[in-house]
Amino acid sequence: MYRTHTCGELRITDTTKQVTLAGWVQTVRKFGAITFVDLRDRYGITQLLFGESLQPQLDSQPLGREFVLQAKGTVHERSNKNNHIATGDIEIAVTEFTILNKSAVPPFKIEDDTDGGDDLRMKYRYLDLRRNAIKRNLELRYAVGRSTRNYLHENGFMDIETPFLIKSTPEGARDFVVPSRMNPGQFYALPQSPQTFKQLLMVSGYDRYYQIVKCFRDEDLRADRQPEFTQIDCEMCFVEQEDILNMFESLVKRIFKDVKNIDYAEQVQRMTWEDAMWQYGNDKPDIRFGMEILNLKSAFLKGGHLEATGNLINGANFGVFDNAETVLAIAVPGCSEYTRKQTDELTDWVKRPQIGMNGMVYIKYNTDGSLKSSVDKFYSEEKLKAIADAANAQPGDLILILAGREERTRKATSELRLEMGKRLGFRKDDEFKLLWVLDFPLFEYAEDDNRWVARHHPFTSPKPDHIPVMIGNNPVIENAEKYLEHPYSNIKANAYDLVLNGNEIGGGSIRIFQRELQEKMFAALGMTQEEANHKFGFLLGAFEYGAPPHGGLAFGFDRLCAILGGSESIRDFIAFPKNNSGRDVMIDAPSAIDNKQFDELQIQLNLQ
Ligand code: ASP
Repeated sequence: MYRTHTCGELRITDTTKQVTLAGWVQTVRKFGAITFVDLRDRYGITQLLFGESLQPQLDSQPLGREFVLQAKGTVHERSNKNNHIATGDIEIAVTEFTILNKSAVPPFKIEDDTDGGDDLRMKYRYLDLRRNAIKRNLELRYAVGRSTRNYLHENGFMDIETPFLIKSTPEGARDFVVPSRMNPGQFYALPQSPQTFKQLLMVSGYDRYYQIVKCFRDEDLRADRQPEFTQIDCEMCFVEQEDILNMFESLVKRIFKDVKNIDYAEQVQRMTWEDAMWQYGNDKPDIRFGMEILNLKSAFLKGGHLEATGNLINGANFGVFDNAETVLAIAVPGCSEYTRKQTDELTDWVKRPQIGMNGMVYIKYNTDGSLKSSVDKFYSEEKLKAIADAANAQPGDLILILAGREERTRKATSELRLEMGKRLGFRKDDEFKLLWVLDFPLFEYAEDDNRWVARHHPFTSPKPDHIPVMIGNNPVIENAEKYLEHPYSNIKANAYDLVLNGNEIGGGSIRIFQRELQEKMFAALGMTQEEANHKFGFLLGAFEYGAPPHGGLAFGFDRLCAILGGSESIRDFIAFPKNNSGRDVMIDAPSAIDNKQFDELQIQLNLQ
């Protein structure tokens, strides 16, 4: 028997027991005739004491970091207790030991605070995985998965696997393709998600499906994306949007409870996509704090948003505002006393290329009620007061205003809001706020192709009232500049996203389930009938055989784990992640293949 106990198990109540431990040598400390060794395994660290009689053996077989060691001995109470570790009251007085395997000197310290840089740790990921921080992350991931499976099982969901070698039907991201040796010249694609398969399972009558499944997208990797990532993928039939929202907010609440012991009792808030865009400047608002965005002026404002504020900004001969497509403001609480240096620093912040603004205007709403701004030349104090009131500002607030092109300004203001939220400590890792964002647009305008693309995916149903708009209008965009005036830009979808602390953790939709409407949808996306049949004939065919109404969603499993673990990086929650160029530097993939393999595939390389 290699061990009687783990390295995290023994306590003061075990004193005098004869035990055998096995693990890795964390540290070796020699004090005269005695030697202390910290022995580590997955469960913890136990101190070993090697007395004088073992020194000759230690001298002839010296121990080094990460050696695999088996030690027999007796549990003793420690004189020098360590209350940082669970086994800190005891040590093992070693009577016998065996080096089970040696280790080369590890390239970095296997400790919480390691000296290993990112690349080095990725190259030796199997060593990095020995570190507590990463181990805790993987444990959390396992707990999230287990909680998910338990909940879904209890609610009648069946875990059904779907294939990884499928047909290439790129619609959103680029597909990874796999050549077929048995069918020369033909390729499989790796699934971007099991979307069509789960819909087919609904047609087959498996009315509650789930899978914790790998998905593959060949995207240029923006920060913190992975080419292969994991989804909790779910689908149900005979459901309306409300059923889905209830089922899956309860799943997340269950995960909160099981994994973080958090009781998230309140109903998850809901917000339309349009409100999210206007009030927070993006479709995944962080609602842990307010600081909502006020539109002082917008070219595209519809439906009454402008009434209260539209006249405040124009006509003061301030060209920057007069000529801007949009002017947006946030009121930052308690910052009216910012110094010139601080406002300058913020101005530099919004001018960084990632944010891309030309400048920033501020109004200080002083605690004595007076107002001071960087545009005092153009706006009287009454005007400033009116703007401050419109922005719901209180005395003591600092109002920050950005102006420019609609989309960029909206994004920049949203970033500025998040940045100020962070600086002011409003975005706490241990506070969790969920939000459903509803009523997404069905279509998005793809500038490069001058056509409509599906905002979610082409299987998402339009709001019933909007179906006639989709069917009754030609999708062709005559005037690219004015695409917003095309009726398609107002069509809303039965689509929803679940947002956690400003991150989209899940999204889905109620699907189209009639062949005719699905064909219309493909046509709206600019597909000919042949193309639609070639790509999705199997689905259109299935819809002829009694397809039930259905809908579902998928959660980004890695992201959910990262947020619950209080980290910005999903990589830390994946055992063997890829780097930002999509490489696994440990196994050195991707890599060239043999000529023999090319021959078998009947493929010739033609690198440009
Ligand atoms: N398959 C979708 C996605 O990957 C999710 C869904 O609609 O269920 O985003």
